[in-house]
Amino acid sequence: MTTLKKIWQQDEVAALYELPLMDLLYQAQSVHRQNFNPNKVQISTLLSIKTGACPENCGYCSQSGHFKTGLEKESLLSIEKVLENAKAAKANGASRFCMGAGWRTPPAKDLPKVVEMVKQVKALGLETCVTLGMLDQVQTTALKDSGLDYYNHNLDTSPEYYEKVITTRCYQDRLDTLKHVRAAGIKTCCGGIIGMGESRQDRIGLLLQLANLPEHPQSVPINRLVPIAGTPLENAAPIDDLEFIRSIAVARIMMPYSMVRLSAGRETMNESMQTLCFFAGANSIFYGGKLLTTANPEIAQDRDLFARLGLTAMEYQEA
Ligand code: SF4
Repeated sequence: MTTLKKIWQQDEVAALYELPLMDLLYQAQSVHRQNFNPNKVQISTLLSIKTGACPENCGYCSQSGHFKTGLEKESLLSIEKVLENAKAAKANGASRFCMGAGWRTPPAKDLPKVVEMVKQVKALGLETCVTLGMLDQVQTTALKDSGLDYYNHNLDTSPEYYEKVITTRCYQDRLDTLKHVRAAGIKTCCGGIIGMGESRQDRIGLLLQLANLPEHPQSVPINRLVPIAGTPLENAAPIDDLEFIRSIAVARIMMPYSMVRLSAGRETMNESMQTLCFFAGANSIFYGGKLLTTANPEIAQDRDLFARLGLTAMEYQEA
């Protein structure tokens, strides 16, 4: 699909946030219907292929080696184990399989193993996505050659708030990796986290960064912070539900052709809130009881909600 590229200004985004909620939801749903079947939701499954002891210090993350979160460190999973999980995900209706590793950048000895995982998961008829940390041009080329569909690399928050959350890398590092990924012809999955103590101004700043990238990320995960004991953000004040829903709606309007994914934190949202997020334009979720290392709604609960809302899973080729 051709992306009609508009350069968004701060005041335009602020004006969207300030609309009466019904007007904002109506506008977001209208944009959504122009570009997607509103009753289809993409289902993805996310597997942690290498857990813990990450050298980065993202203030929200249980996997950072900088914080005592009680998480057991695990080495890279075997290809067999990954395939077992991918087959189960497919059997449960997933069309996309995402693999995440807690690295600053993929180690030279491990990248070929990940390349093989991508090839074999793709051969099962699943769309593939990996998140492995920062990449250079050589690494992105290797991943492109594996047939990888998406690379996930979130901007997390606004450039101004970034160093309050992470200090082991800078915003420009993120933008550079995204540039390599785009240059290699891999689709980008890039979003952020709401509820880390940032202001609305920062939420606007994040959405401006995402929507004003040279191309809209094809997939935009919007996470709600899941406070993890032992991390610097363990006591962050919860974000207001309606402010989160507004953020989904504004993201949908700004990036009309992107898959907007309701990601971490969904287990803290009741069904009414999730429904409003779908109405606001979210059209992708993670399925399965665990999201990397945090809890996620059980599959049976999601199936029941989908049935009651008349939602069905998007097929692979529709994404
Ligand atoms: S979010 Fe990723 S990069 Fe940051 S600490 Fe966690 S695993 Fe490492």
